[in-house]
Amino acid sequence: KLPTIYIITPTYRRPEQMPELIRFAQTLMNVPNIHWIVADDANTTNYDVVDYLTYSSIPHTYLLTPMPEKYKQLSIKPKGVANRNGGLMWVREHATSGVVYFADDDNTYDIRLFQEIRYTERVSMFPVGLVTKAGLSSPVLKNGKFHGWYDGWIAKRKFPVDMAGFAVSVQYLLKMQNAEMPYKAGYEEDGFLRSLKIEPEEIEFKADKCTKIYVWHTQTKKNGPSQRTILQSKYNGTNL
Ligand code: UDP
Ligand code: MN
Repeated sequence: KLPTIYIITPTYRRPEQMPELIRFAQTLMNVPNIHWIVADDANTTNYDVVDYLTYSSIPHTYLLTPMPEKYKQLSIKPKGVANRNGGLMWVREHATSGVVYFADDDNTYDIRLFQEIRYTERVSMFPVGLVTKAGLSSPVLKNGKFHGWYDGWIAKRKFPVDMAGFAVSVQYLLKMQNAEMPYKAGYEEDGFLRSLKIEPEEIEFKADKCTKIYVWHTQTKKNGPSQRTILQSKYNGTNL
């Protein structure tokens, strides 16, 4: 039997929320043996989300994991941290084997990614497209061995990788009882990976030795005036 992949997805209410979740759900409908943990940055249940999860038939859990008030006031927020830590808590309580993957609701996932990460022994890593102006975040291998990192923002991080660029086995996560994600914008991945007490040389590198991109850090533009809307307002003589 295939190991279960626990996919932890932070989400929050905005006009683009349902389309993002629907798009991701269409991808996940093509992936066997998953459990989708949708962790909502909200204080009350969003029934649009819950109803869609039910409709999708994807095995799932819906969690309310609001960002603590003190972080909401910051100009640069630790987005999705309460959600991911809530998801981790759920996994620690309910799972004994399988793999955990943090999957933001707005990224683009090739289903081959899930084949790659399913057999992670401890921590696996792989390239993520469209991260920073560099266009890519990836481990660099030389003769199949860890050589360094490629990322547009190294910033003294031990693990300069994107949230979508690694997976952790449940068994290893259970062993690392204090592993969690810090409320530190920009350093969420690094803090979490450091807490896993793993060295770069011990990482399992996937996606054809990090030569293939199976996940992209796409970002949906806030619903604003499109070119068509601008033309329409000119034609109608209305304000945008
Ligand atoms: N998110 C959240 N609360 C927020 C902002 C974002 O739960 O206030 C979630 C969002 O749905 C996504 C993840 O956190 O799954 C990362 O947010 P976003 O995609 O906006 O970050 P970016 O890709 O711009 O770094
Ligand atoms: Mn995003």
